[in-house]
Amino acid sequence: MRARKRFGQNFLHDQQVIQRITGAIRPLPSDHILEIGPGHGALTQDLVASGCHLHVVEIDRDLAAELRLRYPGLDVIEADILTFDFNSIRSDTPLRVVGNLPYNISTPLLFKLYAHAEMIKDMFFMLQLEVVERMAAAPSTSNYGRLSIMSQYFCAAEKLFEVAPASFTPQPKVTSAIVQLVPHVQQAPLTDIKLFQKMLTQAFSLRRKTLRNALKAFLSEAEMLALAIDPGSRPENIPGADYIRCANYLSSRDAPATAVTAAAVE
Ligand code: SAM
Repeated sequence: MRARKRFGQNFLHDQQVIQRITGAIRPLPSDHILEIGPGHGALTQDLVASGCHLHVVEIDRDLAAELRLRYPGLDVIEADILTFDFNSIRSDTPLRVVGNLPYNISTPLLFKLYAHAEMIKDMFFMLQLEVVERMAAAPSTSNYGRLSIMSQYFCAAEKLFEVAPASFTPQPKVTSAIVQLVPHVQQAPLTDIKLFQKMLTQAFSLRRKTLRNALKAFLSEAEMLALAIDPGSRPENIPGADYIRCANYLSSRDAPATAVTAAAVE
């Protein structure tokens, strides 16, 4: 099997692992499923057999052609999932998204999927074990960070099982894991997601400092205290709900200033 490194191609060949994954997904004929990066069809086979409404998005032209030949009725979309318009496959049935993901694009892809969480029922992904552990990490653990807070803001994230390098061709250098993500029916209100992300990036770039220092460009010590946040604690010790409270406070604090500036320009 020829594998293109730039597309993060590590093909799953272990039938036991494949059955475990499709057993966890349990595709039904009434499901609407999007598979990202079907490759040679390791997971696609069982998805097609389930009779579900299936779209697959594959960037590699040769693999897309191979899948079209093998499954003539299948909707094979040759595209980069990072620029793919999810609205183009929107339907009345919430989407289930699955895939053995190319590890080199996993973080931007997850953030893109989170932005469409409202149209997604659940997701099952093979990822680097380290990434799965970061997604599911609790505060005050070494894996806790921006990805944990963003993942858990949008979804319930659960690691299902690990997959050894020997299950793939070629073998990756790292252990993998399957994660299940279920978007929350209702998310905590968040006024400005971009501001939230900016604040998290800043906080975790200085994760060993105190919040007083790590977030000083955003909040004064007095403001932190008023928001019931200990300025002496570290970014990695703070639950997601506290960051949401800070971000919402910042949006309301800075909104009038923006309005004045806009009026001044006019
Ligand atoms: N699903 C197959 C399996 O389990 O054997 C292949 C998994 S392989 C890790 C990742 C797949 O994603 C490859 O088929 C690769 O060509 C495809 N891929 C990589 N980057 C992509 C992108 N940006 N958009 C869509 N597909 C991509």
